[in-house]
Amino acid sequence: MRRLSLIPVVAGILVTPAVLAEPSDVAIALHGGAGTISKANLTEEQEQQYRQTLRQAVTAGYQVLQEGKPAMDAVIEAIQILENSSLFNAGKGAVYTYDGTHELDASLMDGATLQAGAVAGVKRVKNPILAARAVMALSPHVMLSGEGADTFAAAQGLTMVENNHFDTPFRRKALEDAKARLQQDTQALRWQRPDMLDYKFGTVGAVARDQMGNLAAGTSTGGMTAKRFGRVGDSPIIGAGTFADNRSCAVSATGHGEYFIRYHVAGDVCARVRYAGASLSQAASDVIHGELFDAGGTGGIIAIDSEGNIAMPFNTEGMYRASVDTSGKVTVAIYGEEGNGKIAVE
Ligand code: ASP
Repeated sequence: MRRLSLIPVVAGILVTPAVLAEPSDVAIALHGGAGTISKANLTEEQEQQYRQTLRQAVTAGYQVLQEGKPAMDAVIEAIQILENSSLFNAGKGAVYTYDGTHELDASLMDGATLQAGAVAGVKRVKNPILAARAVMALSPHVMLSGEGADTFAAAQGLTMVENNHFDTPFRRKALEDAKARLQQDTQALRWQRPDMLDYKFGTVGAVARDQMGNLAAGTSTGGMTAKRFGRVGDSPIIGAGTFADNRSCAVSATGHGEYFIRYHVAGDVCARVRYAGASLSQAASDVIHGELFDAGGTGGIIAIDSEGNIAMPFNTEGMYRASVDTSGKVTVAIYGEEGNGKIAVE
């Protein structure tokens, strides 16, 4: 209710007429990370688990939109489900730092008000996406980091856990493998190259368009396996891993964060839509398959525009992803070919 009451005021300033579409035109998309994800890397059972959880998250977010609630609520609902699943590199199931701990990053942006909130390097808040929302709604800041961010989250009454709550054997093994490789190849340590370390990503994110035509985006991650020295990726950085503006689009990214920061990927996609008049799919594709790929950056994005169009390009083997478009069609996909006409999408 609080947010809905803000909308008429803000909409007058920020929202273009195209945004005020049919109330039923709600849509949502989410990702669960991009990377070296192929049929050979997943058992049949794992694949089913991923598909089921992606479907559960996208359906829950869509339900929120159908109830007439803000896009921001739908994004948070979907991301929380993915954070609570140990399958993904966010919340429970987050990757390990070099030192064997977990440092989590998350961010959120509201396309109607351009309000944003983010946390970086938190260790104790159970759902970092809720901490990002608290920063946005309850502090005068956009980003809080480290111990201070955890202290703030606790002060807002969010559920706090011990750092080992995020442990999983699967991610522990990934750390051990990464460390073994780092010992063999010091360049890998220097550059943190995903191709050298065989990172399996798993960052999560969601974008949505609500009945008012407002957009929102959010992203949550454990970062990259074996990260050191308080490394922060793109996920909590507004304009890099997350961006939302009703005048263009909402984007959540996943991939090799250093590239997404330097190429301000989420902001670039929306700038192309807003200033160059590119369609969402053209802008998203040009950035992921052009700009980013040419630079050597791997990953993908999910994006939605003010009309509810959805784009989900990636330049890796696969990207866990799901969407419900404005016609209500549900898509759940993992591998590269799905949804591109080669394999029928679930
Ligand atoms: N972008 C995230 C990071 O660099 C990782 C990922 O998306 O898998 O921290």
